[in-house]
Amino acid sequence: MPVVQSCVSRSLSCCVLLSLLVGTLQAQMPAPAKPSSARARRTEGTVAVRNPQIGRIISEIDARNIESTIRKLVSFGTRSTLSEQNNPNRGIGAARDWLYAEFQKAAVQSGGRMTVEKQTFEQPKATRVPQPTMLTNVVATLKGTQPESVNRVYVVSGHYDSMCNNPTDAKCDAPGANDDASGTAAVLEMARVMAKYKFHATIIFMTVPGEEQGLLGATHFAEDAKKNNMDIEAMFTNDIIGSSLGGNGVREAHTVRVFSEGVPSNETQAEAMTRRSVGGENDSPSRQLARFIKDTSERYVPLMKVWMIYRRDRYGRGGDHQPFLERGYAAVRFTEPNEDYHHQHQNVRVENGIQYGDLPQFDDFNYIANVARVNAASLAALALSPARPKNVVFPSGLANDTVMKWDANKEADMAGYEIVWRDTTAATWTNSLLVGNVLTYTMKGMSKDNYFFGVRAVDKEGNKSQVTYPRPLPRNPASRPPQTAPP
Ligand SMILES: [Zn+2]
Repeated sequence: MPVVQSCVSRSLSCCVLLSLLVGTLQAQMPAPAKPSSARARRTEGTVAVRNPQIGRIISEIDARNIESTIRKLVSFGTRSTLSEQNNPNRGIGAARDWLYAEFQKAAVQSGGRMTVEKQTFEQPKATRVPQPTMLTNVVATLKGTQPESVNRVYVVSGHYDSMCNNPTDAKCDAPGANDDASGTAAVLEMARVMAKYKFHATIIFMTVPGEEQGLLGATHFAEDAKKNNMDIEAMFTNDIIGSSLGGNGVREAHTVRVFSEGVPSNETQAEAMTRRSVGGENDSPSRQLARFIKDTSERYVPLMKVWMIYRRDRYGRGGDHQPFLERGYAAVRFTEPNEDYHHQHQNVRVENGIQYGDLPQFDDFNYIANVARVNAASLAALALSPARPKNVVFPSGLANDTVMKWDANKEADMAGYEIVWRDTTAATWTNSLLVGNVLTYTMKGMSKDNYFFGVRAVDKEGNKSQVTYPRPLPRNPASRPPQTAPP
């Protein structure tokens, strides 16, 4: 029978009804579904099973812990990457050692699954680094428990360095309460809460320095990961998630922006040619990640709206997700909806009655906790789900039906696959169809000329992977297929 998971409205009764329906239908898998007519399936919204572990994680995230972390980080006076390294009370070294100790405390609850390390390296002279400087990423790794998934990694990051007006001034007070003690505190709180829970895949909770000097800590980590063939399926950076009140006077306590690039930063010439021919500029792995975050977190944290921004970062600006994007990893940036530039990269001072500086009084700790919940729901759902399907292709040939093929996932608890689709002008996946534990499927009566399609993997508990966007196979089977997605 056709297994269409769709919800005409977002009303509770509809979703409850369909949740029950989904449960019933999953019991019937892996029988392949027969599609009904395309037009009949043109409904809005999708529903999915709720995982109770994710609900518990969200409820345990506590704004009071986030506040005390931020106040502690601010108490070190400055966290300039160029500031003192060996003073226990002031400078980036004090912040580094305190964070390391806090992650170790979090790791105690993990039964040995979380390990904490200082990843230290010497940064040579650079534009904002006047002399060679030691930088230290503080990295807490929560090992996955499923053998097939332990090498699949999700990274959540914040930068613990700060700056005032002059990026190379190591002496001035740079409280950095929002930029980026807020992101750092959210990452530490997620580590604290999530350490005691088990996930199939591995999660890395990371705080890095050198962001303000040119994304240096994140670049070192991403480069190291690439060299070691680390399978990072998603990276989140949380940077300036501290305030619900913008410099424009607008308060939005229930919105967070998620920036995702459309055209991949590491796109090759051949991939660009394919994209120009068949589209896909709105279907990069990072855009799929943003859709996953919106779909997942708005189910688990319904009071928070994920505002997807179709851009790598804010206009003309950058963040720690970039070095990951440039190396072919899917990555997004979380940022508050309205920024206040009086409180970013400013010396602390009062001028014409205006308080400048990135002070804790301008943070909204409940808001930061809610952004941490959005992160945690998405991260937990990713690390509990199967890997996204690999090698998803449209075989060549002209047809009014659409054929898709993919490689088998290797997890032992796989239930099957879902085809998702949307109108070419829709922002998010609007429809899904469980097709059973098969490696090819034909959407009868639906042409790939007229819809965007994707495939995701589903396990026996109902956890769903990110979506993989298919690439075309060339008409000449002797030639190499064009790549549209990173490995
Ligand atoms: Zn920042």
